[in-house]
Amino acid sequence: MEQQEQVIVVGAGLAGLNCAHHLAEAGVSVTLLEAADAPGGRVRTETVNGFKLDRGFQVLLTAYPEARAAFDYEALDLHAFFPGAFVRKGGAFHQIADPFRDVAGGSRTLAAPVGSFLDKARIGQLRYNVGRGELEDLWQRPETTSLNYVRNAGFSVAMIEGFLRPFFAGIFLEPDLRTSSRMLEFVFRMFASGDTALPATGIEALPRQLAGHLPDGVLRLNSPVATISSRSVTLDSGETLPARAVVVATDGQAAQELLPELVYPGSYGTACLYYAAPTPPMREPALLLDAEPAGPINNAVVPSNISPLYAPPGAALVSASTVGIPAADDETLDEQARAQMTGWWGEQVAAWELLKIYRIPEALPIQEPPGLSLPRRPVRLGGGRYVCGDHRDNASINGALASSRRAAEAAVADLAGA
Ligand SMILES: Cc1cc2nc3c(=O)[nH]c(=O)nc-3n(C[C@H](O)[C@H](O)[C@H](O)COP(=O)(O)OP(=O)(O)OC[C@H]3O[C@@H](n4cnc5c(N)ncnc54)[C@H](O)[C@@H]3O)c2cc1C
Repeated sequence: MEQQEQVIVVGAGLAGLNCAHHLAEAGVSVTLLEAADAPGGRVRTETVNGFKLDRGFQVLLTAYPEARAAFDYEALDLHAFFPGAFVRKGGAFHQIADPFRDVAGGSRTLAAPVGSFLDKARIGQLRYNVGRGELEDLWQRPETTSLNYVRNAGFSVAMIEGFLRPFFAGIFLEPDLRTSSRMLEFVFRMFASGDTALPATGIEALPRQLAGHLPDGVLRLNSPVATISSRSVTLDSGETLPARAVVVATDGQAAQELLPELVYPGSYGTACLYYAAPTPPMREPALLLDAEPAGPINNAVVPSNISPLYAPPGAALVSASTVGIPAADDETLDEQARAQMTGWWGEQVAAWELLKIYRIPEALPIQEPPGLSLPRRPVRLGGGRYVCGDHRDNASINGALASSRRAAEAAVADLAGA
């Protein structure tokens, strides 16, 4: 194909970046328009007083197949979490390890007062079930809510409330586990078959790496798009750019505004609080879950235990996340979070400095059944218009990358046949 097939991609999150990369690789001339002052979308990292604050706690699961294809993991300098979690229950933390990857931790898991011995055997069964067959098969299995799924798998109420609900609520960002069981199976398989990791310098290293693959001049920042048609894009500034094809790679909400025929089910949100601590309140590079939350925090992590570059020398960074957007104002939310964490870690919490609170109302697209009954929604809308983003596949880094590869392939095929 000659270098004159102008395709415009709107939105430079992971989906738009990956789509633009695939188009450029195919020899298509591409322009990537981003409303913000940097690429990354929901995957951004801000530096505050020398601390790296990911805009909402999130992790890369290294088993994601699309991520393996899109990223150079070595260059990202990935740092892995301990495989499992620490669960707060009955006034103490208990280790829930993956027994297949951490044998010593596995025996402590069996002793932890979170669910029965049978429940722990069922975790092994769940691991087997989600791991068997091709990954693709998971998306064809019967779909129900995640709560029904774990109930049908025979888990006790104690195990669901003591581990499974807080764990998956923190991932799906909704406490009722209404999210599709297909997503639970996919996520569990990814956790079980790879590392849970962060790039050494913050999660924004992911989009930065993708942006670095683009030819010079492709990415235009501070360029919000107002309207699109099949043959042009008009910016908020009034500038109109002609295009052979347009790919809308925004979040679902913005995509619905640009493409009126699109139906977006809405989003789940979260808040993330960051604290600077003189010393880390725990040593382990692990996720903490509160199964009996006496406050707004569902989970916490010390990111500087995962990668020391998250904090300046001699300090530690603590992140604490909610499920949903709390009604409390920032001051009250800070007080409530500190009270909860003082219950875990004692009076040291009072000395911590609040660095920032992020409220992210549109963190993840809602994926309740039958939301994933069609695991890959169409990316080709007709008339030279395409759409991609996590709302087209599933709410994850992998979903954003997969949908964008599909959209690029569809556009390239259509241009070649035109
Ligand atoms: C707090 C949080 C935690 C998460 N945790 C995880 C996790 O642990 N693991 C995981 O796999 N996934 C996680 N995710 C999900 C993952 O980050 C997203 O699925 C993924 O980043 C979505 O990428 P995207 O490119 O589809 O959309 P976005 O990142 O939303 O990118 C869309 C881009 O379009 C731009 N845009 C919007 N409108 C316009 C316009 N009119 N003109 C121009 N540009 C526009 C936006 O500025 C943005 O840059 C999490 C997300 C959040 C927010």
